[in-house]
Amino acid sequence: MSARRALSVRVAQALCAGRASKQRTAQQGPRATRPSCTPLYLVNHGEAGPVRCNRCKAYMCPFMQFTEGGRRFQCGFCSCVNDVPPFYFQHLDHVGRRLDHGERPELSLGSYEFVATLDYCRKNKPPNPPAFIFMIDVSYSNIKSGLVRLICEELKTVLERLPREEPEAPSAVRVGFVTYNKVLHFFNVKSNLAQPQMMVVTDVGEVFVPLLDGFLVNYHESQSVIHNLLDQIPEMFADSNENETVFAPVIQAGMEALKAADCPGKLLIFHSSLPTAEAPGKLRNRDDKKLINTDKEKVLFQPQTGVYDSLARDCVAHGCCVTLFLFPSQYVDVASLGLVPQLTGGTLYRYNNFQMHLDSQQFLNDLRNDIEKKIGFDAIMRVRTSTGFRATDFFGGIVMNNTTDVEMAAIDCDKAVTVEFKHDDKLGEDSGALIQCAVLYTTVGGQRRLRIHNLSLSCSAQLADLYKSCETDALVNFFAKSAFKAVLHQPLKLIREILVNQTSHMLACYRKNCASPSAASQLILPDSMKVLPVYMNSLLKNCVLLSRPDIPTDERAYQRQLVMTMGVADSQLFFYPQLLPIHTAATQSPSPTVPAAVRCSEARLSEEGVFLLANGLHMFLWLGVSSPPELIQGIFNVPSLAHVNADMTVLPEVGSPHSQTLRAIVGALQRKRPYSMKLVIVKQREQPEMAFRQLLVEDKGLDGGPSYMDFLCCLHKGVCQLLN
Ligand SMILES: [Zn+2]
Repeated sequence: MSARRALSVRVAQALCAGRASKQRTAQQGPRATRPSCTPLYLVNHGEAGPVRCNRCKAYMCPFMQFTEGGRRFQCGFCSCVNDVPPFYFQHLDHVGRRLDHGERPELSLGSYEFVATLDYCRKNKPPNPPAFIFMIDVSYSNIKSGLVRLICEELKTVLERLPREEPEAPSAVRVGFVTYNKVLHFFNVKSNLAQPQMMVVTDVGEVFVPLLDGFLVNYHESQSVIHNLLDQIPEMFADSNENETVFAPVIQAGMEALKAADCPGKLLIFHSSLPTAEAPGKLRNRDDKKLINTDKEKVLFQPQTGVYDSLARDCVAHGCCVTLFLFPSQYVDVASLGLVPQLTGGTLYRYNNFQMHLDSQQFLNDLRNDIEKKIGFDAIMRVRTSTGFRATDFFGGIVMNNTTDVEMAAIDCDKAVTVEFKHDDKLGEDSGALIQCAVLYTTVGGQRRLRIHNLSLSCSAQLADLYKSCETDALVNFFAKSAFKAVLHQPLKLIREILVNQTSHMLACYRKNCASPSAASQLILPDSMKVLPVYMNSLLKNCVLLSRPDIPTDERAYQRQLVMTMGVADSQLFFYPQLLPIHTAATQSPSPTVPAAVRCSEARLSEEGVFLLANGLHMFLWLGVSSPPELIQGIFNVPSLAHVNADMTVLPEVGSPHSQTLRAIVGALQRKRPYSMKLVIVKQREQPEMAFRQLLVEDKGLDGGPSYMDFLCCLHKGVCQLLN
């Protein structure tokens, strides 16, 4: 087993706001619907800025050793001996620890934040608070379907929920509004206006921002003008026949507006179609199924033009994060449209064939969550390590202009950066391997901060120790991201082979060096890796890696982009969905318990059962043909399965214990996830069952791909070959 895999540890999620290793006790009140994060301690070292190592620039942390009565400290990362600045001096106790060790988070905790001084700000100036710009596609189909009206209505409420630094204080985030089809309309919503004013930009080749004063405003000051505008927008374009849209110029305009206001921010774009209007970033339909299973298949995952990549880089350079709500009714080239959201730390939400009565709830939940979630802007991350190993690759919503600085337009609580480490020198079993991840960013209140995460890993020369402590979920996240990154450049067949070979190698190495001798006919899995094969098989069967012409290209591009920014918990659920036997759930109130999940295989279903299946994107409620009538009655308030309306996407509030339990379980599954899952009701042996069965990942795939058992046999063969 290569040393490189051995050290592929997880820094993923270390970045997620508040989910750090050690935290202080909760002090903040509940925060809306998302799980509340405990705020980190904020450390202020005054005008001089945070105390750092002079040589490697690591920040003060528990790995610094104080010596000479407290006058010096030795850096745990590079061993440099530094003078302690006079303001930071403290005496040591009899074991050489500073007397203030317990009072200083940076000496005793894994995670904390520093107040950043002006040296850490752009142009040495304190940053302005971020702004959110709402950009709505008002082409004919969006007006006609009622989507524009829905968005405008909803914005009136969600604007009340803009993120804030302190729960009691008003939000410092300013807002702006743009509508567009093949031209752009900017709105002046200054608080002293009686009516909003529209300014049209027709030159989409070189977008400029037609107004500065009155475009980005404080929501509460301009509330009446904004509500006025949101009431008018659906009417304003009611008679428009414009079908063509632009897309890149929309992002460009939003970014220019942020640039002109000298602030970071987020663009929330609501878009529906392939941008075919004459403008930079114009796209044509290039969905070519003939490329599948050829060396050119990778082209389907690449953006159609270089415009989007350079736009993404510009956005990151200016702290402009792009979130895209996409409502496609046909191919829209997600590989191109989704690139800027992916690289700028934004989110891509996709509602295929959006239908108002079925999909609005899912969309509105996503919109609310997206607006109020914890987010930091204009970030730069550095990962430092002790000697002997180093960070070599990074995966996530990031841009890198050199090998060490990870630049992010924004990072929110649902995104993770996965880091690959390689060790290239001897590691000490006594000292361990130390990692410090520092993220400099701007808060929603406009403060510049440094978030520090410290991690100390044990080292061992024994392979058995390594296998014992391996974390499969993190491995799967890493393998998925590296495979999905590789599809841009390599043939898929080769990537699949590499994944299978790597898995065989890990198991063969274990067998050769760690396992007790056993019959060759037996496949030996280390305890900590028991589930690795099932995850690997599921990854191999994912539509991104499966070259099948019947899977829409946009679906593959979408899933690829999602996984690239996923955290470990989300990728785990995505590749191995949760299947819950609802008929076994205890219904005692007040706290209904979630039944233990069963394996994702048809063999686990029963005709008398009701099962809930969720993978973070989709949620199905499967009803067996012989589901107990009292359960059906309890959940749906109808006498039998035949009476159940399978079109519903929200469970009715029946008030029965069965209903309350199931609704609580659905709510609990949903709360932890970044995307709102639309609930699909599936009756056994009826057509929509196909989509449900697709997620039974232990079975042979409907689109091909081996069952778990078949895959184990294939791995076993590979292991035997390697051992002989
Ligand atoms: Zn150092």
